[in-house]
Amino acid sequence: MKRLVCRDVGLDCDYVILGDSDEEVTSKAIKHAWEAHAISVEEMTSDMKTRIKENIEGTE
Ligand SMILES: [Zn+2]
Repeated sequence: MKRLVCRDVGLDCDYVILGDSDEEVTSKAIKHAWEAHAISVEEMTSDMKTRIKENIEGTE
């Protein structure tokens, strides 16, 4: 499993995104950003996209 905490992307939010792969976590993070924070993928800064990639952690 892979996980990403929304806070690590730079938002004040403790939501944890889980997925089987980096791609799945990234797509769920984009969906969460839209549904919870009204941030569309077009509005995401390149910094946020980089933070998503850098903060995805593998879990056992
Ligand atoms: Zn969030």
